[in-house]
Amino acid sequence: MDTTKMIIERALSQGRRLLSEHESKELLRAYGIPVTREVEVRSSGDLVDALRAIGFPLVIKGSSPQAAHKSEQGLVKVDIRNDHEAVTAFEEIMSRMEGGDKAVLVQEMVKGTRELMAGMTRDSQFGPCVMFGLGGVFTEILKDVAFRVAPLEKRDAMEMIREIRANRIVDNIRGLPAADLDRLIDILLKLGEIGLKNEIIKEIDLNPIILSGSQPIAVDALIVLSSDT
Ligand code: ADP
Ligand code: MG
Repeated sequence: MDTTKMIIERALSQGRRLLSEHESKELLRAYGIPVTREVEVRSSGDLVDALRAIGFPLVIKGSSPQAAHKSEQGLVKVDIRNDHEAVTAFEEIMSRMEGGDKAVLVQEMVKGTRELMAGMTRDSQFGPCVMFGLGGVFTEILKDVAFRVAPLEKRDAMEMIREIRANRIVDNIRGLPAADLDRLIDILLKLGEIGLKNEIIKEIDLNPIILSGSQPIAVDALIVLSSDT
């Protein structure tokens, strides 16, 4: 069975409609969408191996079915620089989460100041629609988003990127390199493709996608499955 099917079947068999951040990224990675390197950790005994595998600086965040809006719940610690900071963050985050199946993600820290977002929503009339816009706090503040119905051609994706008011964010500006537009376009095309191929996926949210130099990398991801099938 392929990765996508396996991840979806496992969630459904457990009665879940939300994929964890880690599962969401595994699925996206299988389609070639760039996501953070990360390890899921359930016990302090496994923490040190994960720290060595990822390398400092890194990010530790809570991972549980209830952990949507993680930063609001104090479940995201960025720029962790040594073992001591990591152990403190691990203990604090674990103690803040409820429920049996709690874990943290030890994740590569993506350095970059520009945060974008992309996603897919399934419209009852039009089917899968792809969105693109500003990420992080600006998603809600500015609502600067472009939509297209899938399937997308390269030209549609390019138009979406140019359509947002803040489109200069992908340009060479203030000493930052221009974004790799081919990679960005590829992410948008793939989101449409995933929507068309997987009727069960209702929603995909990549927020933020951070530009690391010119390279877009999804540092947070959420996939929601439909409850009608
Ligand atoms: P949530 O959206 O559930 O609150 P996120 O995983 O999006 O949690 O993290 C909140 C913020 O923390 C992001 O918008 C981003 O600015 C920062 N962040 C999260 N993960 C990373 C990472 N791996 N590298 C760099 N910054 C990160
Ligand atoms: Mg987020």
